Amino acid sequence: MKNWNDKKLILREKITNGKTSKMNCDLCDKNKFKSLFKKKGYSITKCKYCGLVTVDPFPTDEELAKLYDEEYFEGGKNKKGYSNYKEGIKNYFDYVTKEPYIQKRINYLKQFSKGGRLLDVGCAHGFFLKAIREEGWDVTGIDISKYASDFGKKEFNLNIINKSLEDAKFVSNHFDVVTIWSFLDHCTTPMNVFKEINRILKPGGILAFNISNVDSFRAMINASNWRPIRPPEHLYYFSINTSNKYLSRTGFGKTTYFGKGEIGIKHVLQNPDLNMNGETVKFDFSFLQWLKLYSWALICYLSLKTGIDNYTIGSNLDVYTHNIKNEQ
Ligand SMILES: [Zn+2]
Repeated sequence: MKNWNDKKLILREKITNGKTSKMNCDLCDKNKFKSLFKKKGYSITKCKYCGLVTVDPFPTDEELAKLYDEEYFEGGKNKKGYSNYKEGIKNYFDYVTKEPYIQKRINYLKQFSKGGRLLDVGCAHGFFLKAIREEGWDVTGIDISKYASDFGKKEFNLNIINKSLEDAKFVSNHFDVVTIWSFLDHCTTPMNVFKEINRILKPGGILAFNISNVDSFRAMINASNWRPIRPPEHLYYFSINTSNKYLSRTGFGKTTYFGKGEIGIKHVLQNPDLNMNGETVKFDFSFLQWLKLYSWALICYLSLKTGIDNYTIGSNLDVYTHNIKNEQ
């Protein structure tokens, strides 16, 4: 069983046109990473200084450009992406509350914003945009996949820009809300994304996104078999700690995390994450690992019962934060 505690330190690298160069941490700009485990030929590594989890070597631009074609969304099956994104997103439910994710996110957003102009970054086919437009929002989407953005434009008559966020060059202080669903872990430089969103949001505007939490019980118990560990599609793996560091360094203030109450020990042990081939993962823990996991589970269980910090246990977290650029 690979675990999260391997102490081997490495320099992270990127290969461009056959040349290898060092690639500093996106969050703290240093370069010393602990190698945690290997997955699909990539090392999953954790920054020694800020705790950001990322991949090494970093995939080339060419490798990344090839990833997001139609096959990614509809024919990915076991290799990459989704077997059927369009059906999957419609049936994507929070299994604790039995609420469809799209509606759940719209309901959360209403707690923070009265509506207005919304940009969805990495909007894919535009299912979220279509749903929130029906509630009176003025919506725009942006996605680098030509296949997915063409679908949203044609089927839903949505305004979707087929460009990267940097290339779209939106005017400053323009949007009331920016959302990023299941996209940040695909970004090559999340720091630039947060900075750009800060620029295009109105003062006091809302940024909403989701992360897979590497500090969660589910991540800890599944390690390399934890479902979000999918290089080279997923390049970054966040936690509340690293997410807060990104936000405080890019001009965002008060932040709220919503997680699922997925700590049922029985549930996790009886229903371990499936890997991408749909096979059940076999566990092979030492006594010490079991002790650590059960102790952690007990702490999580008690925190859930007492209502203290219960958000830290979720492996999928929705994050809602305020832009504070003109309030400093
Ligand atoms: Zn770092």
